[in-house]
Amino acid sequence: MKILKFGGTSVGTAERMKAVASLIKNDEPKIVVLSAMSGTTNALVQIAEKLHQNKNQEATALIDALHNKYKQVAEELYTTSAKKNQAEELLNNHFDYLRSFTLDLFTIHEERAVLAQGELLSTALFQFYLEEQDIPSVLLPALNFMKIDENEEPDTAYIAKNLKTELEQYPNTKLFITQGYICRNAFGEIDNLKRGGSDYSASLIGAAADADEIQIWTDIDGMHNNDPRIVKDTYPIAELSFDEAAELAYFGAKILHPSSVYPAKEKDIPVRLLNTMQPEAKGTIITSESKGGSIKAVAAKDDITAIKIKSGRMLLAYGFLRSVFEVFERYKTPIDMITTSEVAVSLTIDNAKFLNEIVAELKEFGQVEVDQDQTIICVVGDFIAARSGSGLKIFEALKAIPLRMISYGGSKNNISLLIDTSHKVEALTRLNDGIFERNTTNA
Ligand code: ADP
Ligand code: ASP
Ligand code: MG
Repeated sequence: MKILKFGGTSVGTAERMKAVASLIKNDEPKIVVLSAMSGTTNALVQIAEKLHQNKNQEATALIDALHNKYKQVAEELYTTSAKKNQAEELLNNHFDYLRSFTLDLFTIHEERAVLAQGELLSTALFQFYLEEQDIPSVLLPALNFMKIDENEEPDTAYIAKNLKTELEQYPNTKLFITQGYICRNAFGEIDNLKRGGSDYSASLIGAAADADEIQIWTDIDGMHNNDPRIVKDTYPIAELSFDEAAELAYFGAKILHPSSVYPAKEKDIPVRLLNTMQPEAKGTIITSESKGGSIKAVAAKDDITAIKIKSGRMLLAYGFLRSVFEVFERYKTPIDMITTSEVAVSLTIDNAKFLNEIVAELKEFGQVEVDQDQTIICVVGDFIAARSGSGLKIFEALKAIPLRMISYGGSKNNISLLIDTSHKVEALTRLNDGIFERNTTNA
């Protein structure tokens, strides 16, 4: 069985949905994971914001506008009046549900239910289209099997067991449709896997179903060597290892959700990144093997906060770093980069929710400095295969840019640099010109 995930733009219009249907209608057994139509989750976030602020009229106007957009989609998607009516009723149900929140208390719990509507809508509309086209398929509710635990980590045993139970109900079915992104949490409430989470859903479903392959269909022909939104002349990378792809996803390559490589890696299931707009392009294949050029790609992660703790006395005495890390642990705040010297420790976090509390506790160890608006630039490749010279190329390319932190040696796949975000575009552009060999097998 294969898992095929289609992202927001791939199902962004009636026409795109029809194109997806023709891509998947062959006989191979598969589970198709859909995101919300592009723009929908952003619209739902906006609606939730208005509801939180008690701006119910503005919320209603946004809900009406979104409803109208979907009516148009339904008009274009179906030919029979039976399906058009069925879709109209479905849309009325979902949008009346959204409107009901303008009359009632609105908390984080209701917000999550609002955010879930995008994937519920796209999958239901798509299933109706398949029915109209006589393509046999079953819509599996992700809320019946996708679950996170009290630490917001996927409950993989639960997912595997419940997905199996769902699939066993339809022994003769080859095509299943389900929602990405949405799940239940430890309390059984509707929740989600964070923005971009449909990739993660696909990977978790692939691992749970022991799939042969996980395909992430999107709007670009694979993982590029640099961020195509920022730099011109990027190119797709033919092959990546799980570790390389995981580093890129974690450090900002938006094409993959930060955690989405891990479940596939655990089960050694190849992940293919493909382009719905250009299905014949070979895209990127991610497996346990690393091949191709030594320096493969760069990615950038914004909104990083750097914290420096200076302490003449205790630093690097045994137990000191543990005490520092324990502060971050208490606030469930992961650390991304760390560098040390005899007199100071610098580290970075991307979740600054508890920054004030963390800084207050760190002050017990010494002087604390905080720099916000930082960016981690992550250069990924096989630096063992490269043997030597990679560092020189990177520093040469970045010689005009002030580097705040450097991390090398944590893994063989990653060199990370911390810079001020104001230098990001220049850094990515200079690296693009300076470190890649364009005539490799990857280009
Ligand atoms: P989807 O809606 O299909 O999940 P996303 O917008 O989440 O699509 O991800 C695809 C986008 O990721 C691309 O359009 C591209 O702009 C962006 N992107 C950022 N970095 C990279 C990269 N290194 N390679 C490819 N795409 C990237
Ligand atoms: N629809 C969700 C989002 O926009 C999940 C996804 O697209 O992967 O974040
Ligand atoms: Mg995405």
